[in-house]
Amino acid sequence: MDIKDLSKKILDLVREKGFGLKPDEINVGEKIALIHSELSEALDAYRKKRFEGADNFGEELADVIVRTLHLAGIFDIDIEKEIIKKIESNKDREWDWENLNEQNSL
Ligand SMILES: [Mg+2]
Repeated sequence: MDIKDLSKKILDLVREKGFGLKPDEINVGEKIALIHSELSEALDAYRKKRFEGADNFGEELADVIVRTLHLAGIFDIDIEKEIIKKIESNKDREWDWENLNEQNSL
């Protein structure tokens, strides 16, 4: 199953459950906040070393992707194309690791 199939499956479930399929049927800010909340749940799972069972790290990361694909689908964003574009642009990007590591140590 590729990312387009996953997106379709998620949007099919969204349609079935009535979560909203058009921009005017959702609160975009709330959807973005919910993606943030799933990341926080992933951090919590990681810190508590919950790698199996309910609400485990992998499940929370999956929640982030499911919610992100739902939001991208609402706006008819070709997320596969966007991801590939981002990977390509990162290939030419340079990071100043020395300064980044200094900032991270604060
Ligand atoms: Mg969750």
